[in-house]
Amino acid sequence: MSSSQSEPFTAALEAANRHAQNYLGQVKQMAVRPALTAAELRQRLSKPLAEHGVPADEVVDQLCADAAGGLMQSAGGRFFGWVIGASLPAALAADWMTSAWDQNAASYSTSPAAAMVEEIAGGWLKDLLGLPSSAAFALVTGCQQAHFTCLAAARHAVLRTRNWNVETQGLFGAPPIRVVTSDLLHGSADRAIRFVGIGTGQIVRLPSDASGRLSPELLEQELRKSSGPTIVVLQAGDVNMGAFDPFVDLIPIAKRHGAWVHVDGAFGLWAAASARYRHLLAGAEAADSWATDGHKWLNVPYDSGYAFVADSTALQAAMTYRAAYISYAKDARDPADWNPEWSRRARGFPTYAAIRQLGRRGVSEMVDRCCELATLLTTGIGRLPGAGIVRTSPINQGLVRFLDPKPGATEEDHDRRTAAVVAEICANGEAWFSDTVWKGRRAMRISVCSWRTDRDDVDRVIRAVARILDRQPA
Ligand SMILES: *Cc1c(COP(=O)(O)O)cnc(C)c1O
Repeated sequence: MSSSQSEPFTAALEAANRHAQNYLGQVKQMAVRPALTAAELRQRLSKPLAEHGVPADEVVDQLCADAAGGLMQSAGGRFFGWVIGASLPAALAADWMTSAWDQNAASYSTSPAAAMVEEIAGGWLKDLLGLPSSAAFALVTGCQQAHFTCLAAARHAVLRTRNWNVETQGLFGAPPIRVVTSDLLHGSADRAIRFVGIGTGQIVRLPSDASGRLSPELLEQELRKSSGPTIVVLQAGDVNMGAFDPFVDLIPIAKRHGAWVHVDGAFGLWAAASARYRHLLAGAEAADSWATDGHKWLNVPYDSGYAFVADSTALQAAMTYRAAYISYAKDARDPADWNPEWSRRARGFPTYAAIRQLGRRGVSEMVDRCCELATLLTTGIGRLPGAGIVRTSPINQGLVRFLDPKPGATEEDHDRRTAAVVAEICANGEAWFSDTVWKGRRAMRISVCSWRTDRDDVDRVIRAVARILDRQPA
C-alpha cells in the first residue's frame, strides 16, 4: 500500500494503539474508581461545537486525556461490581478489526466473512454451552436483547398453537400470555417482557427458596391455575448469588403444561463449559430458549449477547423479512433472518477470536478460576472481624455484610453499616463492589468475571477491606 493510502489513518490509529497499550499496561495497578466528579468530567469534555474540525490524532489524544478521569477500571483485576468482565487480547484486537473493516453484518451479501464467522461462532457457542446443535441463534447487543429476541420467538410459538399469528395480527385481541417466574427475575427480562408487548402485569413472580431456587411444587400449582399461553422464565445464575433453578425438575412440569421455557443465563450458562460446574445446568438443555452474554464471562468487549432458540421456525418467523432490494444467501446464513437488527456491527469477530484464543480448556479454566476466587473473596472478607458471610455462591458470586459493633445493634444498623463500608471501599480505590438488598437485608455483592483477576488481586483486596474495617468504627 502506498503511504498516501494509509496516511489518513496512520496518526490516529497509532495514537489509539499507544493510548490503549498505556492504559492496559497500567490498569491492574490503578485505583478502580473513576477519579473525577461529574462536574469535573463535564468541564473537561465540554468543548464548544467548533466551526472547524481538528486533526484526527489530536481528537484521539484529547479524548483519551479528557475521558481518563471518568473511566471505571473494570478492565483491571479488582473490579467486582455488578457482573462485568474484561476483554481478552484476541477479542479486543478483533474488535478493533471489526471497526477497521466496518462491515454491515446484516446479511451474507453485505459481508460474507462476518456472516460466516457468526455461523461458525454460533456453533462453537452451542457446543461450549451444552445447547442442542440444531438450535437457531442470534448475536445481539447483550442479554437484555437476547431476552427480547427469545421472547419474540416464544410469543410467536405460544400463540401459534392458539391459531393466532402474532406477526400479522399483533397482540390486540390475542389470548393474554402469562409469564411465570421467580421473584429473582432480572430487570432485563422484565424490560424484554414489556418490549414484546406482554406487559409486566402478566408476570407471576413465585417466591424463591432460601438458596434462590424456584420450587417444583409452586410451579406446578401455578401452572394448574390456567391453560392459557404461558412462558416460564428460569434462572441459570441469578444476579446476586448465582442461584440455579432445578431445571431437571422444573422443565418437565412446564412442558407438561404446554409452556415455553426460557432460561436467563446471562453469565451462569457459562458453567456448562466447566466439568466442575456443569451439573448446575443439568436438564437446562431441554428448555426452548436461552439468553447469555459474551461481554460478561467470555470476556469479549461490549456489545455482545447471544440468543438461542430450539425451534428455529419460531425464531425465523419472529425475525425474518424479505425485501426486494436485498439478496439472500442460498448456501450460507443471513444474520437478518434471526436477528432483530438490520444494519449491525459484525460482532461475531471478537467472539470468534475469544474462543480461538482460549480453546475449550481456556474457557473452562477461566470459569473455574473465577468461581474459586469468588469463594476466596467471600470467605476472606466475610470472616474478617465486623463482617459476615450472607451467602456463598455455587459459582462466581457471593454476598457479605458488615456489622454495626454497637451493643444492641439492629438489622437496620447493620444495613446502614454495610452500605457505608461498601461506599468506603469503593472510594478508597483498592476495589469496587456494588451492594444489593438480598431477602430484605442490605449486602455487598461479590462478582468475579474477569480473566485478569488473580490470587494477588484477591489477597490485596481482602487486606484493604481489613484495614477499612479496622480503622472505621461505626
Ligand atoms: C447482566 C444480566 C442481564 C442483562 O444482561 P445485559 O448484557 O446487561 O443486557 C440479565 N440477567 C442477568 C442474570 C444478568 O446478570
